[in-house]
Amino acid sequence: MYFSECEYCGSNLDPGERCDCLERARNRKSRLMSLFESDRSGQMTMKPCDNLEDSA
Ligand SMILES: [Zn+2]
Repeated sequence: MYFSECEYCGSNLDPGERCDCLERARNRKSRLMSLFESDRSGQMTMKPCDNLEDSA
């Protein structure tokens, strides 16, 4: 048994809980691509939730 952790933003989640960072991204498909960035090796990575404009 292990604690859930958002693989995208690293938030600690209760068992069975899903981080809403992806839900928020899904609600803004036009901004979805802005959630991704490519590093110099060309690998696509997802920016942490903290970079979302509506982070509290
Ligand atoms: Zn998240």
